[in-house]
Amino acid sequence: MSGNIVRLQAIKDVEAYVPPAVSFTAGETPGEIFGANVFSKVEMQKRLPKSVYKSVLATIDHAARLDPLIADAVAAAMKDWAMEKGATHYAHVFYPLTGLTAEKHDSFLEPAGDGSALAEFAGKTLTQGEPDASSFPSGGLRNTFEARGYTGWDVTSPAYVLESPNGNTLCIPTVFVSMNGDALDHKTPLLRSQQSMAKHAERVLRLFGHAKPDAVVSYCGPEQEYFLVDRHFFLARPDLLNAGRTLFGAKPPKGQEFDDHYFGAIPERVLGFMMDTERELFKLGIPAKTRHNEVAPGQFEIAPMFERGNVAADHQQLLMTTFKRLAQKHGMECLFHEKPFEGINGSGKHVNFSLGNTTEGNLLLPGDTPHENAQFLVFCAAVIRAVHKYSGLLRASVASASNDHRLGANEAPPAIISIFLGDQLTDVFDQVAKGGATSSKEKGTLIIGVDTLPVLPTDPGDRNRTSPFAFTGNRFEFRAPGSQQTVAGPMVTINTIMAEALDHIATRLETAVAAGTEFNVAVQKLLEEIITDHGAVVFNGDGYSDDWQVEAAARGLPNLRTTLDALPELVSELATELFSTYGVFSEREMHSRYEIGLEHYTLTVGVEARLTLEVGTTAVLPAAVRHQTEVAQNIGALRAAGVDADPSALDEITGPLTELRSALARLRSALGEHPGAAAMDEARHAQDALLPAMAAVRAASDLLEGVVADDLWPLPTYQEMLYIL
Ligand code: ADP
Ligand code: MG
Repeated sequence: MSGNIVRLQAIKDVEAYVPPAVSFTAGETPGEIFGANVFSKVEMQKRLPKSVYKSVLATIDHAARLDPLIADAVAAAMKDWAMEKGATHYAHVFYPLTGLTAEKHDSFLEPAGDGSALAEFAGKTLTQGEPDASSFPSGGLRNTFEARGYTGWDVTSPAYVLESPNGNTLCIPTVFVSMNGDALDHKTPLLRSQQSMAKHAERVLRLFGHAKPDAVVSYCGPEQEYFLVDRHFFLARPDLLNAGRTLFGAKPPKGQEFDDHYFGAIPERVLGFMMDTERELFKLGIPAKTRHNEVAPGQFEIAPMFERGNVAADHQQLLMTTFKRLAQKHGMECLFHEKPFEGINGSGKHVNFSLGNTTEGNLLLPGDTPHENAQFLVFCAAVIRAVHKYSGLLRASVASASNDHRLGANEAPPAIISIFLGDQLTDVFDQVAKGGATSSKEKGTLIIGVDTLPVLPTDPGDRNRTSPFAFTGNRFEFRAPGSQQTVAGPMVTINTIMAEALDHIATRLETAVAAGTEFNVAVQKLLEEIITDHGAVVFNGDGYSDDWQVEAAARGLPNLRTTLDALPELVSELATELFSTYGVFSEREMHSRYEIGLEHYTLTVGVEARLTLEVGTTAVLPAAVRHQTEVAQNIGALRAAGVDADPSALDEITGPLTELRSALARLRSALGEHPGAAAMDEARHAQDALLPAMAAVRAASDLLEGVVADDLWPLPTYQEMLYIL
């Protein structure tokens, strides 16, 4: 179907749209359905013997080792609960290094030997599974013939029932490891890193006089940006369908120049979709909170409430699957790609990070007078040290072929990792550096000039949209992660670099106190040292400006522009030492992630290049040729009729058409080249040969789009995809 036919169909759909009846009806308020499909603490307390419940709780809340003897009791209760909810199967859900979610379903039923079947779910089935692992990426950790992989129950992330029209499934979040315990997934290192960070945070808390601090956890609040397009357009766009982004498409006459979409009224079909998804998310215990239009036309955001890191990561994956599924129900496709439309803002996933525990609360809460809050300053200083020392690793944790289209393009933070602290904290740390902080800039009040308005307090500092790692009052917001990546990767890095910084801090303070230094004096000295050594990473200015590129270089901050610049950070000596010291990745595991990162890059660009060649050759070129023929025939006909025909219309199409032909030929030959066997050679070839060749094809095609008759143009246009919703 060519662009204009699908456009007419999409318009009909929008006009005929009636939201499915999914609103919260009487007896079904959000509060009532929240967590209805989750095997929650409340459900466990109801169904488990008291001692078993207490034991599970100790593992969830206080990081105690799981008592294997209770698994049978938990499994039995979980199975009964799930079957009451209509579940016939159970699945260990895990997060392999494809970045996607994997699940293997098994029936509860087992033959009883007399022709009947019994529902079975033993403790060992709950705690361990053994999916065939051979088709998941392992980055050389495993040979393909060594297929065995194990899943293991993550007790700290609740099991849930996933509904589908034809049956329900009990889902158990798990880790996924190889036969010798190497991590083959994103969750294993996340749990390891949380554990390590917690250990050293607790040491720091003890120094501050909390004799028995409760287990510290890291929290993550992920903001998710996404696009919606009518499904007719999606299906008529082989590039969107297979690569998740458009490889062709001229800029529309109206882009996002008016900034009229941001926070605008949500279109009815989109709102219908949002309400439907939120209802599903609520049932799964995912605390969907904020929804709004984003900057680009057709772009939106959802931000669930923050949760402990591993639960947030699981929920985030589930959220993306739910969005994809339900968008289709509403006649749309949900795009999570970082840059679906060139020239239009892309999508990110902001990772809001904090740490805390039940007794101390949020450890990144400054209070009104942060200069007096030494404990806060110490945790904040830990972030400063961590981000400065390991900025390359943070950059590598968000590196992907798709995120390369976004970072550093004046819509997302630059590839230089820096910290925004805001006026108040910057001032406090400036004082610290000079020998001690004695005051904090106060909050003000807004003068609006209207007597009837309430007095509105202002925050002690403004926000900074251009900063990759910004303090936002009670947490740090890492703004560089890509919209389709799992939050687990960035969270692993943040937890681990925080573990190192807190370890350093705890050791320094313990030693000083043991040597008789007064605690406050030791703290001041340490803070002074950290801000002197690592203050270069603090930058409150405009991260999009050219000046910052120059200044950052003078400060010695790395500027790793592309994925291939960033990935080697994963196997640097600094990274290897860090991850092995804190028990998060062995050198082998780290190397495997590096290999997988390169491989994924090469595969992504390769698919895009082949798609460009195919669509360019089989869709764009024929349309342009038809148009050229029509114009030529028209000129011929006019001349035959004795009319003086102007040949410039023919030149107008022939110029870009010739360019397209030669660009396609160059791309075809680049695809035929053999760059060498090393993963980095192949990736470099993708970056340096394929990407530019694709860009040339696109440039010619985008010119043609402005020339070829609308009814001949084969691809839905940007205008159509972005504005028909
Ligand atoms: P923004 O104004 O930055 O767009 P949003 O309301 O869209 O803010 O999202 C902010 C995110 O930060 C939410 O997911 C929220 O739950 C999360 N958040 C709030 N407080 C914390 C905290 N202490 N730790 C981690 N995340 C937090
Ligand atoms: Mg937001």
